[in-house]
Amino acid sequence: MARMRVTVIGCAGSFPGPDSPASCYLLEAEGFRLVIDMGNGSLGVLQRYTELFGVDAICISHLHADHCIDLAAYWIARQFTPRGPQPVIPVYGPRGTAGLAKPDLGPGSDGIAGGPRGQLRFDVRELEPGSFGIGPFLITTERMNHPVETFGFRIQHDGWQLAYSADTGESDTLVRLAGGVDVLLCEASFLDGQDDRPDLHLTARQAAAHAARAGAGQLVLTHLVPWNDREQTLAQAATVFDGRLSLAASGLVLGPGT
Ligand SMILES: [Zn+2]
Ligand SMILES: [Zn+2]
Repeated sequence: MARMRVTVIGCAGSFPGPDSPASCYLLEAEGFRLVIDMGNGSLGVLQRYTELFGVDAICISHLHADHCIDLAAYWIARQFTPRGPQPVIPVYGPRGTAGLAKPDLGPGSDGIAGGPRGQLRFDVRELEPGSFGIGPFLITTERMNHPVETFGFRIQHDGWQLAYSADTGESDTLVRLAGGVDVLLCEASFLDGQDDRPDLHLTARQAAAHAARAGAGQLVLTHLVPWNDREQTLAQAATVFDGRLSLAASGLVLGPGT
């Protein structure tokens, strides 16, 4: 596949819902598979869309469980498969990602692992704001506005561009990161009046305002908290963003021509 394809694996916000795991996105181009975020439950659903060991690289936006916890589960799979330990793959994340990528399996695990406890199956690389390549993708990262170190991503391939907000409160940096993208995958955790804590998450209306300011071609709302009314989320965003607008769903495919 030459052109980029993005599959939403999980888009539930803060915890998994009945229809979706927590945050996880599969990006494919030229036979390369990049996974962004591995929230609760995502490793299971991911296997519907790629072979278990078909992942070439992983990016973690931040170390809240709903974005990263299945990385530990994936370590187990790669370490203990009957095929033998799988090759080391790069994992990009904020400071502290290495601790998650090398789980402590407890006393007696040395023998089970067939080597030193916590043998690294991931080559962990700490993110900094900037641009770099992963496989065929050009990635740009910026720090978002969230209580822990959190990176938003802009991913480019063959002239098509996607931005992903990760978790963030209002952020001029997000507007800059998403400037002119084809698709902005933006978190919309809150509804109007539901929660006014600043510097944590966006309401659907705020997400739409960011997309409008960024000039995004299409807005897909994600990090949808299971107890929120989806139609209300969409309706509140639609008052601000008049471009193409939709809600993420597990299994949704985005990319050029979609
Ligand atoms: Zn989250
Ligand atoms: Zn978070």
